[in-house]
Amino acid sequence: MQKQQTIIEESLKALMEDDTFLPDLQAQTREQAFKSLVALLSTPNHIHKSFLRITLENGRIVRIPSFRIQHSDTVGPYKGGIRFHESVNEEEVANLAKLMTLKNALHELPFGGGKGGVVINPKEYSVKELNLICKQYVQYFNDILGPDKDIPAPDVGTGEREMDWMMGEYKSTHPGKPYRNSFTGKSILNGGSLGRREATGKGVYYTFRYMMHNFVQENKKWLRDSDNRFAHTALDHADKKLKMAVQGFGNLGSVAALEAFQCNYLQNKIVAVSDHNVMLYNDDGLDIQGLVKFTKDNDGDLPTDKSQLEEHEIKAEIKERDDLLELDVDVLLLAALEDQIHEDNMEDIQARIIIEGANGPITEGADKYLADKGVLIVPDILANAGGVIVSYYEWVQGREAQFMTEDEVYKRLFDKMKTTMDTILPQFFGDPFPLRQNSYIHSVKKLSTIMYRQGKLY
Ligand code: GLU
Repeated sequence: MQKQQTIIEESLKALMEDDTFLPDLQAQTREQAFKSLVALLSTPNHIHKSFLRITLENGRIVRIPSFRIQHSDTVGPYKGGIRFHESVNEEEVANLAKLMTLKNALHELPFGGGKGGVVINPKEYSVKELNLICKQYVQYFNDILGPDKDIPAPDVGTGEREMDWMMGEYKSTHPGKPYRNSFTGKSILNGGSLGRREATGKGVYYTFRYMMHNFVQENKKWLRDSDNRFAHTALDHADKKLKMAVQGFGNLGSVAALEAFQCNYLQNKIVAVSDHNVMLYNDDGLDIQGLVKFTKDNDGDLPTDKSQLEEHEIKAEIKERDDLLELDVDVLLLAALEDQIHEDNMEDIQARIIIEGANGPITEGADKYLADKGVLIVPDILANAGGVIVSYYEWVQGREAQFMTEDEVYKRLFDKMKTTMDTILPQFFGDPFPLRQNSYIHSVKKLSTIMYRQGKLY
């Protein structure tokens, strides 16, 4: 996945040239401050790791590697999901933790960044075993977690059920202490927030729509290069149907696709969706409502054969899963895992706009190649923050024991994302950096200034 290192360094370099950035630097020269900030922003504060020892239902004992990596608490308690995946590892969790710091800073949330990982394929474990894994995770990392220390949430492979179990264990191990906002992404019954489940998908689609709106409206002001590439992309689509493809049909991809299907902004139509088995394609647009219903009844999987499609009256061709990325579409929404677009397939990408729903779905090399080609990449930290933004509302609601309606949650979510974009977009259209770099500059500036004010640069 994207190693944020280069982008962090480049952001700091750009900031150092701006006299208004840390103007009253005292103890260090600007050169020294640059190096100190690179060091502070690049390395996590703490790496916690452990082997969970679980007795499986068949009596066998297994040891499962697990992590909680706390990257930064500059802005507030560590915050970020826990991923259950068989290929998750320390380096990936550390990168994801760093990404959380940048994401939370970008959207002005009062949190730092952290991330957890458990190296399992959850589909290979029984419910009872998963419950044990969750409980042990909390027991092993008991001292470092808490509503004002480090607040985990769902990520790939985890959801409400796991957060409820973990909160339950936290409650038992911290009798008499506040526990409700020790985890977010819980079920409503356990103090979760309305709208949290849909927040990431809805936020991703909202970001896309708001960006397009700006492009179309402001196009004349914001021509970027001699080809006027972005402007043309936006304008072309104002009077033709916008073709979209969605990689991943889990909680994020399916919600974003359904939003697109229902909003029909610029007459967008989703011609392709894929999951870990197949790609479904229909040039006239897929029946996303029908597919969402199908996946609900089929353990989250899309239909894999013709008879299933016919039985559910879904018109689609079944195609090779990985070909989705190379389709001739306008917009590609990446809602699966990291490193999906890389050096080997980047030249075959035809989409002009790519939205990163997943964290780090484009490698560093491919990102540079596509951005240079004029593809508009809406970066993860900007596009997929809906989840952690509503996690923040859940945390606040848990503290106050006062709960918002679903409409209030969505209104506040969209307002927050709009505010961030209103800050980033004028900069983006006004200077030569890609959108990812603009977003990083904003976060890095905020983090550096706070660190300086907290006396960390003396
Ligand atoms: N796992 C989500 C993310 O990557 C949500 C984190 C949270 O709610 O704390 O943003």
